[in-house]
Amino acid sequence: MDPQAAQRVGPNGPLLLQDFHLIDLLAHFDRERIPERVVHAKGAGAYGQFEVTDDISDITTIDMLKGIGKKTNMFARFSTVGGEKGSPDSARDPRGFALKFYTNEGNWDWVFNNTPIFFLRDPAKFPIFIHTQKRNPQTNLKDATMFWDYLSTHQESVHQLMHLFSDRGTPYSYRNMNGYSGHTYKWIKPDGTFNYVQIHCKTDQGSKTFTNEEATKLASENPDWHTQDLFDAIERGENPSWTCYVQTLSPEQAEIFRWNIFDLTKVWPQSEVPLRRFGKFTLNRNPQNYFAEVEQAAFSPSHMVPGVEPSADPVLQSRLFSYPDTHRHRLGGNYEQVPINCPITSFSPFHRDGYMNVHGNYGANPNYPSTFRPLQYKPVKASQEHEKWVGSLIAEQFPVTDEDYVQANGLWQVLGRQPGQQENFVKNVSVHLCNAHERVRKASYGMFHRVNPDLGTRIEQATEANVRDMLSARL
Ligand code: NDP
Repeated sequence: MDPQAAQRVGPNGPLLLQDFHLIDLLAHFDRERIPERVVHAKGAGAYGQFEVTDDISDITTIDMLKGIGKKTNMFARFSTVGGEKGSPDSARDPRGFALKFYTNEGNWDWVFNNTPIFFLRDPAKFPIFIHTQKRNPQTNLKDATMFWDYLSTHQESVHQLMHLFSDRGTPYSYRNMNGYSGHTYKWIKPDGTFNYVQIHCKTDQGSKTFTNEEATKLASENPDWHTQDLFDAIERGENPSWTCYVQTLSPEQAEIFRWNIFDLTKVWPQSEVPLRRFGKFTLNRNPQNYFAEVEQAAFSPSHMVPGVEPSADPVLQSRLFSYPDTHRHRLGGNYEQVPINCPITSFSPFHRDGYMNVHGNYGANPNYPSTFRPLQYKPVKASQEHEKWVGSLIAEQFPVTDEDYVQANGLWQVLGRQPGQQENFVKNVSVHLCNAHERVRKASYGMFHRVNPDLGTRIEQATEANVRDMLSARL
């Protein structure tokens, strides 16, 4: 039968219910969309390979990192954070930097961002903060007053704000940005000793950014620029790569470190905690099908391998739950069976049944720890000597203190070492902040003033000049 025809009674008659082809086609079409990610909705992905470049066996026995030259297949997905699936790639926004390594011991996901820190350290603030960066519930418009009202009243965000409004907030392409774990993790050795670590992936293409004007122009001319750039580069054989480094602190060093290593709004200064190179990854193959391989890719910081553990960073702890929960909502309880998410080696026979169980459901294997077919586990000794938590139940936010402005000022100084970057920063803030309510603008000037008095003054002057221009243009 013609797939574009419909069964009907005569040339102009009504349709027949027996026309399963038409009904099935329509019913499937009605179900083509799965829930959009609430954050990181717009993204692009590619396959690649990770290679160990340096021996770090003194600090880890993670199988994937063992032996110079060892290679592991992987998949990467880069994304903007706040915009919807159709939003422009060049928007001022942090970028997601998610990597999935198909290791011999299961999947290891690095769910990173292109900034080394984030806006908050209290996980309950995440949904609230994201609401303010999205659309006004009444107008359905992006709302500068909401945006700055939240940020100027939650000033632990200011360090990340400095990153966002520097030119790195508008990267030239996904190929030209770094990725950072941001969170502290633990790398544990078989004897139970461990280091706290943070990972940095530095682009080998060099860090390259758009100015605010270029990014704004591109948003209308080619809103899919980053997606296209990544795909086209790999098709041309210009395979992008990143070099991977680790910062380590022993538990003893962490005890006396100036910064709280579980505070996601702070970096570990590189002068004090040097970067140590250990690997490199290269993206070399485009997906064949966007929905199957990119839209359904499900990353989670809780996807770890033996030798890796989460730290007590509260935002990381909450992400351990929230990411798989998102995947269960978007893809179903068996999301790990989708080929892009499927480990090359996995045996979890206690995960049984459920919707879309398509891999044989472990056949006749027992669904409990049966004494008739005992399972073997890799011995991983979890020594928690440094993390014996004792205390009373409390429910408090972390307070904002003078310390929260120090690293933000550090970045202001970094920008000062690069021609034009401080000027661009002031401009980038002022063209956005001028759209906010006067009271919110003033609170924001106060915030930047606490980072650096000169910065506060310059932002106030530039922003109020923009406000005056807008008002006179309306007359
Ligand atoms: P360093 O002088 O040792 O390092 C500064 C780092 O800043 C550089 O290594 C580079 O990181 C990054 N950087 C350079 N230019 C820019 C820019 N235009 N926008 C954003 N970041 C830039 O100083 P510290 O380690 O003491 O950090 C000072 C400030 O630098 C921090 O407050 C933080 O905001 C920022 N920074 C720090 C990082 C860290 O992990 N310590 C990482 C990134 C930024 P990279 O080489 O990774 O590009």
